[in-house]
Amino acid sequence: TFDVHIIGGGLAGSEAAWQLAKRGFRVRLSEMRGSGEMTPAHQTDGLAELVCSNSFRSDDDEKNAVGLLHHEMRELDSIIMRAGEMARVPAGSAMAVDRDAFSNEVTRILAEHPRIKIVRERVDTLPDAGMTIVSTGPLTAQELAQNIVKATGQERLAFFDAIAPIIHRGSIDMSKCWIQSRWNKRTEASNENGDYINCPMTKEQYLAFHQGLIDAEKTEFREWEKDTPYFEGCMPIEVMAERGVETLRYGPMKGVGLDNPYDTNEEHPQGRWPYAVVQLRQDNKLGTLWNMVGFQTKLKYGAQVELFRTIPGLENAEFARLGGLHRNTFLNSPLVLDRQLRLREAPHIRFAGQVTGCEGYVESSAVGLIAGIMTACELSGREWSALPATTAMGALLSHITGDAEAETFQPMNVNFGLFPPLHDVKKKQRKEAYTSRAKAKLTDWIRSNEAATA
Ligand code: FAD
Repeated sequence: TFDVHIIGGGLAGSEAAWQLAKRGFRVRLSEMRGSGEMTPAHQTDGLAELVCSNSFRSDDDEKNAVGLLHHEMRELDSIIMRAGEMARVPAGSAMAVDRDAFSNEVTRILAEHPRIKIVRERVDTLPDAGMTIVSTGPLTAQELAQNIVKATGQERLAFFDAIAPIIHRGSIDMSKCWIQSRWNKRTEASNENGDYINCPMTKEQYLAFHQGLIDAEKTEFREWEKDTPYFEGCMPIEVMAERGVETLRYGPMKGVGLDNPYDTNEEHPQGRWPYAVVQLRQDNKLGTLWNMVGFQTKLKYGAQVELFRTIPGLENAEFARLGGLHRNTFLNSPLVLDRQLRLREAPHIRFAGQVTGCEGYVESSAVGLIAGIMTACELSGREWSALPATTAMGALLSHITGDAEAETFQPMNVNFGLFPPLHDVKKKQRKEAYTSRAKAKLTDWIRSNEAATA
């Protein structure tokens, strides 16, 4: 018998199991690897295997959002951080680990825990009853994915992420761009002046940009990604560019219906339509992050930064994340999960890890950690008091469970753009201000939730 069934023994599932077991609950942890099953990216049977890089990224908890997340997880006795420390290898200000030593340590601690039973089995259905955490990750096995689709409705579970770059609002040069919706169309949710930031291009600029797309270095699809059913409506911009010089100008870069206020004459006192345009759309409720509309891409990261900074208004753009296209199974969490990561339609089921729409080893582990504490609270009949949105964990959680725009929801790394903004603080001091505010708030939260966090 067990109190909680955790499906998926990756980073999030391992962290959730640990958090529950240390609070006295019995856990069944089902992991399909080790039962003759494998994902296309994993290579071992170890729990919490790192499938690609061996880095948890920056460990700087004063100026970096992911470093802050490390700090918060350490404060809450994360097994991922603990094993990471034990397996740490030199990597400057980053935290990198020996992947085998790391996975072995997580596996050992959980296997030796008297309240955790690791079962090597593939789970194909969502349990009808009993407290459950689903943490099957970006490569959730097919049968289960199909059953999640049945429970959530079509199109609420994506099989690919098609990420257009996301830019910090404060880094956009508004002396070259303007806000307007095409044809001034409005909906009930519209902002007064329009919903898009428009970056105009002249013919010369467009042609140079088009050539830049053709010439830029691209990343290849992995062999197994090629077999995954492709998706309509998210073709990479460089593929569109290859189809012809005008394709983008009739697609995401069309200038019609947009009046460029920097290009007026008597005939067009409002402004003429630009030859081409790059549109940015608000990406979170705080209005701090804006995505480049239709700009999903497989260009290499360096090439993206270089080329996209040639776009008028984006010369100094700071990217909250760059574009990408990968196989990735994730929920439209803002629509299907409640604020406590529970499936609205079946609240005995919680989701955790990358399948909730966070992105990365550290973020997935953090969401596993929170899901574990939330579940422990629920089992003890204690009210869950929300993590402050000013903490890294709280900001990430707020984003995936409601603050992100559901329509354009794509997986997200932790970054300061998710935090309630600190406009009054000078830009140079802002990062430190975010981290010190977060640390203070987390300390308060832990103090006032001692029973839940001990
Ligand atoms: P996972 O760690 O994938 O764990 C999910 C577990 O569930 C797996 O062990 C799987 O075997 C198991 N499982 C799946 N279906 C079932 C089932 N039906 N029954 C039982 N068990 C099941 N992040 C980074 O930070 N840096 C990187 O460099 C990086 N590179 C990546 C490269 C690739 C190719 C991929 C796919 C992802 C990469 N990521 C990277 C993202 C990273 O993998 C995830 O953020 C992280 O592993 C997610 O943790 P998780 O616990 O949600 O999922």
